Amino acid sequence: MTERVGQHREIILSGMQPTGALHIGNLEGALRNWVRLQEQYEMYSCIVDWHSLTAEFEDTSGLKDKVFQVAVDFLAAGLDPNKVAIFVQSEVPEHAELHLIFSMLITVPTLSRLPTYLEKKDRLDSYGFLGYPVLQAADICVYNANKVPVGKDQEKHIWLANDLAKRFNALYGPTLVEPEALFTEIPLILGSDARKMSKSYNNDIAIGMTEAETEKKLRTFFTDPKKLRKGDPGNPDGCPIYLLHRIYTPGAAESIASPCRTGELGCVACKSQLTNNLNDALRPIRERRADWLNRPADVWNVLASGAEKAKARTKVVMEKVRDAMKINYRKTT
Ligand code: SF4
Repeated sequence: MTERVGQHREIILSGMQPTGALHIGNLEGALRNWVRLQEQYEMYSCIVDWHSLTAEFEDTSGLKDKVFQVAVDFLAAGLDPNKVAIFVQSEVPEHAELHLIFSMLITVPTLSRLPTYLEKKDRLDSYGFLGYPVLQAADICVYNANKVPVGKDQEKHIWLANDLAKRFNALYGPTLVEPEALFTEIPLILGSDARKMSKSYNNDIAIGMTEAETEKKLRTFFTDPKKLRKGDPGNPDGCPIYLLHRIYTPGAAESIASPCRTGELGCVACKSQLTNNLNDALRPIRERRADWLNRPADVWNVLASGAEKAKARTKVVMEKVRDAMKINYRKTT
C-alpha cells in the first residue's frame, strides 16, 4: 500500500535497545543520522525495552536506569522532543497487539532460518527470541511507517516487516503501509581491542565519558601491531585509531594515513591528536548530556509525552487493523 492520504510528511520509525549509556559507535552509526532525519520526517524514536528482555529477562533490576541513560543520550545527541516522539516501547501496548496478530501470519520455519536466530539460538532459544523480528515488524507497522533507518545488516528484518504488511493487506484489504529500509552508510567503528565497538565487550568510548577518561581509554586502543615505534612504517587500514580519525579529523588521509605509512607519525602522537579532535567533537553533546542528567524529571516527562504522541498514532493504525480484520466487535458502523 503506497497511498499516503492526509499524511503531510513520511513517517520514520527508529529504535534502539536500552543498553545503558551509549557509545560513539551508536552516535556515529545511528543518532547523528536520526538528528538529520528529524528535520524531514515525522519521526518516532523508540527505546525498545521489550526487545532487550529476549536476552535479559532474568534480571530486570537495571533496566530503568538503562532506559534513562539511553533517553539522556538521545537528547544529548540532539534529538529534539518538539520534533520527534521519544518514548519507551512498553509504554505503547499497541506494539504487542500488532505483534500478536503478525505472529499468525508467519511460519516458525521462516523465523528459524533468519541469520540472527541461527547465530544465537544455542544461547537464546525462547519463543520470544524466535519472534523478535515479528515484534520488530510490529514496531514499524503500528505507525504505518514508510521508512526505517538501518544498516545493511538489518535488511532481512525490514524485508520481513514489508512482507508481513503485504500479507496483512492481501488477506484483509489495504490497511498497512509496506515499509522500506532507509539505508545509511554506517562507518566502521572498532573498539579498543579491534573488535566491533560494543558496550558488552567493554571496548567502547561512551559518549558520557569525561575528556580525561576518553584520553585514558584511547591510550589502550590497539594499533598496527607491526608499528612498534615512531619511524616504523605503519598500516592505517584496519587500525581502530585511524578509523576514528576518518570521522573526527578532516583530511585524515593526508594528515594521518600518509605519515603513518612513512613512519613520520608515531602512534602516541596519532592517539593524542585523535583525543583532542574527539573531545572537541563531543564537547557540545557532553554539555547537553550533563544538563539533562541534572534534570531527571524532565527526561521522564519527555518520555511520557513521547509515549502520548506515539499512542495517538498507534491507536489510529490499530483501529484500522481491527476494522480490516472485522474484530472491532462493538463498533456499530
Ligand atoms: S600511527 Fe595512527 S593510524 Fe598509524 S598505526 Fe599508529 S595509531 Fe594507527
